[in-house]
Amino acid sequence: MTIGVLAVQGDVREHVSVLDRLGTETRRVLRPEHLEGLSGIVFPGGESTAMWRLIDHGGLAGSLSEALRGGLPALGTCAGMILLAREITNWHERYLEIMDIAVERNASGRQVDSFERVISCDGLGTLPAVFIRAPYVRRLGAGVKVLGSMGDLPVLVREGNWLAASFHPELTGDTRVHGYFLDMCRKER
Ligand code: GLN
Repeated sequence: MTIGVLAVQGDVREHVSVLDRLGTETRRVLRPEHLEGLSGIVFPGGESTAMWRLIDHGGLAGSLSEALRGGLPALGTCAGMILLAREITNWHERYLEIMDIAVERNASGRQVDSFERVISCDGLGTLPAVFIRAPYVRRLGAGVKVLGSMGDLPVLVREGNWLAASFHPELTGDTRVHGYFLDMCRKER
């Protein structure tokens, strides 16, 4: 099983390293042909506006969208969640519009307001979660399940084969969110 990591910008190395530790083969995705034969794809944290420019100019947007709509499992973290969301409440652009959620960009505050919390997730127990200019989920579609929350706020959500986190599981050394995603990918195969 090979998992792609969108490699235009952001926490690419960090995601590859978690997947390595879980014994999974990875491929950096920069061009449409890199999507061939993948069992899943990760959209890293970083800067969604910059990532989108590069995805769009690189001619990757159409093939990504097609692969995801065709059922390719995806994990989006932070900026990756924004790329997957159907709606961004405080931004004029729309990106892949895959998951039926509305998110508010930079809702957790500025870079200097970054924080870490322990959150509890269905089936995963409690885990450390790092928030850096994080998107907060403001609307959940009917088919979207909340797997983890911080108080009343959903921070780990799943819709079918797509999983999105407001936080950065790639930054804490805890592999459980990636492990859960790999299980999803295995089931889909
Ligand atoms: N604020 C960033 C964005 O809008 C996301 C931040 C992150 O991924 N840590 O893309």
